[in-house]
Amino acid sequence: MTTRAVVLGAGGFIGHHLVSFLKDKGYWVRGVDIKYPEYEETKADEFHILDLRFRAECTSAVTGADHVYHLAADMGGIGYISAQHASIAMNDTLINANVLDVSRILGVERFFYSSSACIYPGYLQHTPDVTPLREDQAYPADAEAGYGWEKLFMELLCQYHAEDYGMQTRVARFHNVYGPLGTFDGGKEKAPAAICRKVSLAKTGDDIEIWGDGEQTRSFMHVDDCVEGIYRIMQSNYSLPLNLGRDDMISINELVDLVCEISGKKLIKKHDLTKPQGVRGRNSDNTLCKSVLGWEPVIDLKTGLNETYRWIDHYLNN
Ligand code: NAD
Repeated sequence: MTTRAVVLGAGGFIGHHLVSFLKDKGYWVRGVDIKYPEYEETKADEFHILDLRFRAECTSAVTGADHVYHLAADMGGIGYISAQHASIAMNDTLINANVLDVSRILGVERFFYSSSACIYPGYLQHTPDVTPLREDQAYPADAEAGYGWEKLFMELLCQYHAEDYGMQTRVARFHNVYGPLGTFDGGKEKAPAAICRKVSLAKTGDDIEIWGDGEQTRSFMHVDDCVEGIYRIMQSNYSLPLNLGRDDMISINELVDLVCEISGKKLIKKHDLTKPQGVRGRNSDNTLCKSVLGWEPVIDLKTGLNETYRWIDHYLNN
């Protein structure tokens, strides 16, 4: 029988890609969000506009589902999440608790939750040449204010539901996802998309504004790897949180250089030290991911950024 999958957050960047991926795998898919996807029509069999902070709307969203992929969240790049602690924590706590409880009551077979590298303790991320973060280093906890704490508590709620009710929960900690069809302006965009936009709109010789001194480091995963990883985690028997990210770290200055090289433009970096830059360094340790899934994200940054830059550049200049 065809598996019925519900993707919560299907109007967003990763959720939209996941809907397409699951349709290609032959699933029946219902997408749910408070908005439709911005840049492309959904391939979902049904798409429902629902506000998942409200329990009755969660029941409509999840009814009839075999598998629930929960990616709905009030979130954005560092500028957004560092300025909205109360509303993000409140909105996401309400969404998470309602979605999980309703999925349990309705007897959903498998439940996937998208957590984040933002749950890792700040005290492990003070230098650009940071040691890659292992899953067992989440505690003693010192998560990102607001967004990180809400994610960490939902990880625990999933674990408690597995232990107390035998629910099949799966949890991934995403590390910076980028790719085509992702937000690149409006305030919720993340560094790769923001840099692609700035480079696309500039001419050789112009200044490009960079948040912080640009020495902060991150690893970046292409969205195609992300949805492949979500699928593999959902198929696996592993219920505790798993890193899902690349383990090749790069500084923001190097990221800007790479996008400039792709575009063929020479720009002058102007660093704005008043802007938020998040933790100083962050990378993923993929040892557990490789041993559980026999796989890790494979798309290299230059290939993925080239595709992303071309998409944003085309969108802005046509
Ligand atoms: P996104 O903002 O593009 O998608 C999230 C979607 O959730 C949005 O379309 C939004 O409208 C929807 N949503 C918000 N509030 C809602 C509500 N009350 N009811 C219904 N839908 C609601 O973000 P994304 O990048 O696609 O992220 C997907 C998931 O992955 C999120 O849980 C996010 O926290 C997590 N994550 C993403 C990254 C990343 O780099 N993109 C990194 C770590 C974790």
